[in-house]
Amino acid sequence: MKQQTIPLYRTSTVHCHSNYCDGKATLRQMADAAVAAGIQTLGISGHSHTPDDPEFCMTAEGTEAYRAELSALKAEYAGRLDILLGLEWDLISTDDPARYDYIVGSAHYLFGPKTGAFGYADYSRAELRAFVDAEYGGDGLAAAEAYFANVAKVAQKKPTVLGHFDLIKKSNGDGSLFDEEHPRYIAAARAALRACAEAQVVLEINTGGAARGYRPDFYPSQWILREWQAMGGQVVITADAHSPEHLTFLFDEAAAWAKQAGFDRVQVLTKAGYVACEI
Ligand SMILES: [Zn+2]
Ligand SMILES: [Zn+2]
Repeated sequence: MKQQTIPLYRTSTVHCHSNYCDGKATLRQMADAAVAAGIQTLGISGHSHTPDDPEFCMTAEGTEAYRAELSALKAEYAGRLDILLGLEWDLISTDDPARYDYIVGSAHYLFGPKTGAFGYADYSRAELRAFVDAEYGGDGLAAAEAYFANVAKVAQKKPTVLGHFDLIKKSNGDGSLFDEEHPRYIAAARAALRACAEAQVVLEINTGGAARGYRPDFYPSQWILREWQAMGGQVVITADAHSPEHLTFLFDEAAAWAKQAGFDRVQVLTKAGYVACEI
């Protein structure tokens, strides 16, 4: 019987979380689901230990257990599944990216300019509203500018994957926090995009926000992706999967999203590095 082939971009998923951080499943459950789905490359990218953020990140001890367990699974599944030991690294993380097979570099935090208070870019709408009111005098665009400045700093570290480029829009589905077509928003995003181009990083098209119902669209927005394509940028499709059923969720739609922006190929991360896949 002829085996059905799946597109190469659906054989690799490298932005995934386990219960060592805020994921729902064990590393082994993620690996077994990957095998069942015909995936060749599974990269787990646990949230890097960040003392300011005990809620979503791996603990210092948990990080070592994560590294040990994932390394053991990598050996156990060899020949069936290529497991990559990754890290979703953030600017204020204390872990060393050099210890990992690859890095998803992401900005997640805001530090309020008034009190220095710690905040999340992916707060709920009400939480972000309160943070913007308290720290930015109600100016949501100022929070977006601060966020994109952090994205530029992450890009300068040259991660393997630049994570959720415009995460700050997550809770802005109704446009009430800031206007995503405002010249200030566009200028801030463009400055971050230029930093990404200078660092020659690969931007992810991240389906996680859509999978979990926060936004109908992906990160990054279509106009950003179009500009990235015009700059000669490259993209990789990722799920930001927090559970096994989301390993390659909406990947075909993400490929269509890339195509719509003018891309004729996406990058696919393998154990030998990136390979191109026509779409
Ligand atoms: Zn993230
Ligand atoms: Zn993530």
